[in-house]
Amino acid sequence: MDYQAILEEISQEVRPFLKNGKVADYIPALASVDPEQFAMSITLFDGTQYSVGDMDKCFSIQSISKVFSFTLALKTFGKKLYERIGIEPSGNPFNSLVQLEYEHGKPRNPFINAGAINVTDALVNHYKSDELAFLEVLNFIKSIADDDSILSNEIVSKSEMEYGHRNIALANLMKSFNNLDNDVTKVVDVYFRHCSIEMNTKMLSRAMLYLANHGVDPINAKRYISAQQAKRINAVMLTCGHYDASGDFAFHVGLPGKSGVGGGIVAVVPKLMGISVWAPGLNAQGNSLVGTKALELFTSKTSLSIF
Ligand code: GLU
Repeated sequence: MDYQAILEEISQEVRPFLKNGKVADYIPALASVDPEQFAMSITLFDGTQYSVGDMDKCFSIQSISKVFSFTLALKTFGKKLYERIGIEPSGNPFNSLVQLEYEHGKPRNPFINAGAINVTDALVNHYKSDELAFLEVLNFIKSIADDDSILSNEIVSKSEMEYGHRNIALANLMKSFNNLDNDVTKVVDVYFRHCSIEMNTKMLSRAMLYLANHGVDPINAKRYISAQQAKRINAVMLTCGHYDASGDFAFHVGLPGKSGVGGGIVAVVPKLMGISVWAPGLNAQGNSLVGTKALELFTSKTSLSIF
């Protein structure tokens, strides 16, 4: 298949829609991003990459980081992790407090904010320090992306903290139900720091390979997690990766994927490739509008959906 030609075709087709999305504006550092940017990359199992657009431009990965913190926590705690968080879609916005209240402080899944904050708390327990927990997430990401240059943007994480009232409220609510062990501010700070990691689509598509290959990096043969755990993470991405638009994403794209409010999306074609797309303008559910469209075009043109 001529992947390069397909990516170029997609890029042409989606560009007119770039102005239709709305960039995240809850913090100034994200509100100032130019919405007229687009990049898409795929990485195959032998390391071959195909990319189009602003493929070298690093952006805030935001909630995509939840896939990596969940991976680390699942590897560390195994099934015990599910005593703290569930695996069902929430059907609610990513930062909703309501469901968490009536479900007694147990988040529906690791990809809504409450769930990801809870996962971060579990990692702080395990590494016995907030700083180490953050560094382990960062180092894991560097390892799966095979890139040591990856950093977290402090301007973004500080700004997240300054405007983070709702996430802090979610953490406090979990704490009130005894489902958060560490200091709220410290846990939320680690969460914001891993959300503020910056990567480009080339790095992200490379980083997804272990999930496309049963937990083993196909390029260097490193096993990160068991095949069983990789299956679970893919399943949670498919059912919960796009918040209350997860059904819509499965319907139109048909791949396990995870979005972030920075406009990035990662997806996996099992046994074949990692994919990442970036277009900062979001749809009403907080997922990249053009990114979702580009992935839909990709699976339509290549017939590479899992269905
Ligand atoms: N840092 C963002 C927040 O907690 C992540 C949300 C997202 O990417 O969907 O609000």
